[in-house]
Amino acid sequence: MLEQLLIFTRGGLILWTCKELGNALKGSPIDTLIRSCLLEERSGAASYNYDAPGASYTLKWTFHNELGIVFVAVYQRILHLLYVEDLLAMVKREFSQVYDPKRTAYPDFDETFRQLKMEALARAEDLKRSNLNPVAGNTKKQVQGNNKLGFEGGNKKKSGGVVKNGGGGGGGGGGGDGGGGDGDDANGRKLENGHSNGNFVAKDANLSDVNGRENGSPNVGAFDVHKLQKLRTKGGGKKADTVAKASKAEPNKKVTKKNRVWDDAATKETKLDFTDHAGEDGDRNIDFVAADQGESMMDKEEIVSSESEEEDEEDVGKNRKPDAKSKGWFSSMFQSIAGKANLEKSDLEPALKALKDRLMTKNVAEEIAEKLCESVAASLEGKKLASFTRISSTVQAAMEEALVRILTPRRSIDILRDVHAAKEQRKPYVVVFVGVNGVGKSTNLAKVAYWLLQHNVSVMMAACDTFRSGAVEQLRTHARRLQIPIFEKGYEKDPAIVAKEAIQEASRNGSDVVLVDTAGRMQDNEPLMRALSKLIYLNNPDLVLFVGEALVGNDAVDQLSKFNQKLADLSASANPRLIDGILLTKFDTIDDKVGAALSMVYISGAPVMFVGCGQSYTDLKKLNVKSIVKTLLK
Ligand code: GDP
Repeated sequence: MLEQLLIFTRGGLILWTCKELGNALKGSPIDTLIRSCLLEERSGAASYNYDAPGASYTLKWTFHNELGIVFVAVYQRILHLLYVEDLLAMVKREFSQVYDPKRTAYPDFDETFRQLKMEALARAEDLKRSNLNPVAGNTKKQVQGNNKLGFEGGNKKKSGGVVKNGGGGGGGGGGGDGGGGDGDDANGRKLENGHSNGNFVAKDANLSDVNGRENGSPNVGAFDVHKLQKLRTKGGGKKADTVAKASKAEPNKKVTKKNRVWDDAATKETKLDFTDHAGEDGDRNIDFVAADQGESMMDKEEIVSSESEEEDEEDVGKNRKPDAKSKGWFSSMFQSIAGKANLEKSDLEPALKALKDRLMTKNVAEEIAEKLCESVAASLEGKKLASFTRISSTVQAAMEEALVRILTPRRSIDILRDVHAAKEQRKPYVVVFVGVNGVGKSTNLAKVAYWLLQHNVSVMMAACDTFRSGAVEQLRTHARRLQIPIFEKGYEKDPAIVAKEAIQEASRNGSDVVLVDTAGRMQDNEPLMRALSKLIYLNNPDLVLFVGEALVGNDAVDQLSKFNQKLADLSASANPRLIDGILLTKFDTIDDKVGAALSMVYISGAPVMFVGCGQSYTDLKKLNVKSIVKTLLK
């Protein structure tokens, strides 16, 4: 049975709910849908699964982009309700007839809805009957017929028109609704409380019905984040785990860069090496000059690529065009439709294709570029274009909004504030640095230490890379240069125990922060991922920071999603800790190929908290969202 149908504006104003249904939903499925899907440009999903104690819901939705209205249906997943998409489409059609922006209540829609529901149920019954009695050789036709009617007709793989897992459930019959989410690959995502209870069912993950759907396709629009806060926070005890499809992530494709070979690092990395190699062993791996190098760039204004903004302003001046968005590559897509009624997908396609290619040239993972374009298309379809407005500028503006929304952290992590809060509780604040080999974990750990020291925070390092020879010495060298204590136990010890002892020691000696270095590991290396999971479980750090190179393209998705997935799967905890934040390294080496930042944030939902941008301790910055977005769209 349908549990709820809700109509609300993109601003978060609830216009109508079905009183007749009146069921109190368990948990907060709609808030979670908005937070995990509508605000995160995940329109590739066909439905969303939400679990709360005592309930497993599937949510489907559609948008009226021109009117800015959202229609969401919630039903018990077990029921496989076949008619929901059809019903949503009908509700959308009928409600748009009566919608008046000045009106906030629609009690008269109750009766309309009742009739629409009966109609949808009757159509589903017909369809179910015809599916159960297929005319020999005509099964393919039936599947197409389903699509025409707007029925989902099952998200599972069909063979010869018969739906796998179909036929079950009281209200359903012929088709599965994709509930259960067993068709797609899952990428874990960090949630505020680490609780996972939701996932997306991908529209195109081995699904056979997606092409024919018209009205039921889930669209994601440009949401007003602030207004929606209200809707989101209401009763929002539950968090969801957004699961994105990662099947195209080319799991075996490795970073183009060669892994560091530690024993001959001195010869391999002479280009980056500004230091003398005298002194202890660890020095040969350290490319830093002396510690006293001035203020960390973390505390300086205007960061990442201030030049790009300046250039931008110059360009605007040169072009003398009032519309800044129309310049550059995108202006070549000049196209306007005077008096065109509503935007159709085909109108958007050329501009979106160009935009996708552009994002990919900036090193955005293909899968992410594709999903974003789908999302932008979904937010624009059906909208009216003002006369002589360029489609390309409209598309670009929508994409710009989407990019800003993705890159702007929804959850503020203010390390300095949190460090002081921990200090008041007489506990050291613990940060664990994780990532694959050679990405710059220990180097950037030292940069973070340097920045913290400048804020009068006392720091201790914990050498928990007990795996790779030279790692402890390397960290020791940083500690010596920065004149901070280091806790080390040599090699071949259990890093989880070393970290535990380090934290105990920090409590004893009154260090404010413990920075835990860990061994680099490939995301597929199960024993090492298990050890990391243990370290995190045992020590429950305040922050798990994923260190990733800005140089990666498609592999960014694989690395981050698998790290999260493995941390979730291999944890002894029912409520596992995942990645909280991202430290993006080698930003100074990528020119305008800034796409990894976007891919990583999109796939993990974790914010970029630091950007490593050079070879000295001061070379650590905050992410400049505005500048990244500009670079991505240039
Ligand atoms: P780990 O194996 O992950 O601990 O990596 P390291 O900290 O040893 O760093 C590997 C190499 O990357 C070293 O040569 C570092 O100097 C270099 N590196 C780290 N961060 C940056 C950065 O932000 N920019 C540049 N250009 N090089 C960096």
